[in-house]
Amino acid sequence: MQMKNWLLTSFLLIAVINTSYTNFDEGMFPLSDLSRANLKEAGLKISEKDIYNPGGIGLVDALVQVGGCSGSFISRHGLIITNHHCAFSAVQLASTPEHDYLTHGFVAQTRAQEIEAKGLTIRITIGYEDVSSKVLDAVIDINDPIERINIINNQQKLIAQEAERQDPNIKAEVSEMFIGKSYILFKYQMIEDVRLVYVPRRTIGEFGGETDNWIWPRHTGDFSFFRAYVGKDGKPAKFSKDNIPFRPKKHLKINTKGVNENDFVFILGYPGRTFRHRPAQYIQYQQEFLLPYIADLYDFQNRTMKDVGAGDRAMAINLATRIQRNANVMKNYQGKMKGLTTLNLLKHKQQEDQALATFINKMPSLQKKYSNLMPAIDSVYKEIFKEAKRELWLTQIHSASNLLNVARSLNTFKKSLTEIAIKENHWQKNMPKLTGYINDLYGSYEQSVDIIILARMLKDAYNLPRDQRVEAVDELFKNRTDFNNIARSIINSSKLGDKNNVDKMLTNMDSLIVFHDPILHLQQQIEQQISSLKTEQDRREGLLNKLMGDYVAVREQFLQKDFIPDANSTLRLTYGYIKGYSPVDATYMAPFTTIAGIIQKGNTGLPEFSYPAAIRDAWEAKNFGSFVKPNLQDVPVNILYDMDTTGGNSGSPIMNAKGELIGVNFDRTYDATINDYAWNESYSRSIGVDIRYVLWTAEKIDHADFILEEIAR
Ligand code: ASP
Repeated sequence: MQMKNWLLTSFLLIAVINTSYTNFDEGMFPLSDLSRANLKEAGLKISEKDIYNPGGIGLVDALVQVGGCSGSFISRHGLIITNHHCAFSAVQLASTPEHDYLTHGFVAQTRAQEIEAKGLTIRITIGYEDVSSKVLDAVIDINDPIERINIINNQQKLIAQEAERQDPNIKAEVSEMFIGKSYILFKYQMIEDVRLVYVPRRTIGEFGGETDNWIWPRHTGDFSFFRAYVGKDGKPAKFSKDNIPFRPKKHLKINTKGVNENDFVFILGYPGRTFRHRPAQYIQYQQEFLLPYIADLYDFQNRTMKDVGAGDRAMAINLATRIQRNANVMKNYQGKMKGLTTLNLLKHKQQEDQALATFINKMPSLQKKYSNLMPAIDSVYKEIFKEAKRELWLTQIHSASNLLNVARSLNTFKKSLTEIAIKENHWQKNMPKLTGYINDLYGSYEQSVDIIILARMLKDAYNLPRDQRVEAVDELFKNRTDFNNIARSIINSSKLGDKNNVDKMLTNMDSLIVFHDPILHLQQQIEQQISSLKTEQDRREGLLNKLMGDYVAVREQFLQKDFIPDANSTLRLTYGYIKGYSPVDATYMAPFTTIAGIIQKGNTGLPEFSYPAAIRDAWEAKNFGSFVKPNLQDVPVNILYDMDTTGGNSGSPIMNAKGELIGVNFDRTYDATINDYAWNESYSRSIGVDIRYVLWTAEKIDHADFILEEIAR
């Protein structure tokens, strides 16, 4: 009886704690959990089998993962719709000042005109299998944390390798669904030849620029079209003129009537990462260390790149992707920091963990097993906090300096050559990948940018606490703190600044093996420091792996709930409704924007709100075609809904109750960036481009007739 009272009290306590930031309607449902989503009750008008039908055909067969984004087939000839920002780097690589597709867009009018989308490959999920016991049985008797994590990682690799051995046409991967608790083997079909078909110009695809990123009301035409190609035998093949369009098992039907407020909608896609099943200390780490450091560093990098790139179009093109990616992360992190403070999430999490600890201690059966759980989590995180600053610096140094990144690839390759007996084979086999990677790095290398950013990193290293020194760079500070000069002299003294030197060296194995250079040397020293810390990191990861598995298991008992796993780049379904919201007192944000809003923003005169004159002309002439939304008397541009999405869901098809495509997801509101830690219906809103605006733009502005004819409507 007493126990029952206690349980009741603790549930009430949790209910009170929870209402402020969580809600149980969250959910990025894996294929294995679709039935838990109660889709029929929610409003779905087709059957679950129409969505996922193992052995048969379902909507999931129309889904792709492309780069870090999602997308969907919309024709039987492998035409894919995704976001403009997902095509951005491929468009950059295809652009020159003479053919500036980034600025002017790209419209193919025949298949022959489609161009290679460099750097992009596609995966299609074709099956999955729960392999948790195969992974975890191997560590039942293992207490050493390093051994544990190594075995778990190794088991995952072996299981995937075995699946690929059984079917050499697939790519297999084991994904951790709950840390230390459950593992699923996913099988993917791969496509290696991806082409650009239609990308709107930047003033449409990125309308609003950084000012509007993560913001509602929004008016961005964030869509683009690719096509998937395979070899004549239907198998994945590298880009070749002889390849043929891929024939997907399924493609989505488009519904040009779109949706209305409160309509049921759902999304299939590949959400990247969420962190909802972590303890309070994880949030503390994010809030105190990671988010502020990265947001500030990327802000600095972008200011530097914009300054240096001003007035030089070729340089600005080279730097565009890095600037865009940095800016996207930076604003997301700023949104998260704001959300953490507004919701006081850390305090709530701490209270919840405290209640969980009390729950464990009151239940003899749990106490026996988990009495040390919460203190053990705490002590691992104390160690993490102690090392956090230096470790963050070490995770950022290579992406900060392109030359150090080049040096890392060269050093790693040199090292592998010295370790391998049959060097020639290794050289031949790995050289294309290495040169491809290095070419990309040089593609966005600007010496003056590298110097300024390296100087900033040196300054950060100089300011690290006494017990977290980076010895490799401490060497450089003997009696001097003129970071700019130090950085300049490092970079100027290196041969890597001239790509020709590297190209030459990569034509001859022996010359690479004996090649010495100040930057290679510096990178090697940094690498040594990274590896000297690695054992300690592995130990902590091994400890946390076991602790997180237990934490989730006992929390499920506490809350009497089976959790949905955090996002991990595997295929998920989420559903919700087209819905406005009230982000601040006395406001209401309606869920549709229209072309009228583009014109209004354009009137500000700000460059990020400039748009093609053709849009104004068509709008003034009310040339809306069949894409008008009657109650708005305008074309709907962007839509807002309360689905549970995150990064990686970019490009996901938004479907109506019948599984027809009505839009493409591309963003969240600023208030929703926090939903990576805690989702709540009151503030979590995602943003998509309405299919009516996509088709209207294709028809009236860009005259992309070739695609319009192909699309199934
Ligand atoms: N625009 C976002 C991204 O690319 C998508 C999201 O996070 O909701 O990361």
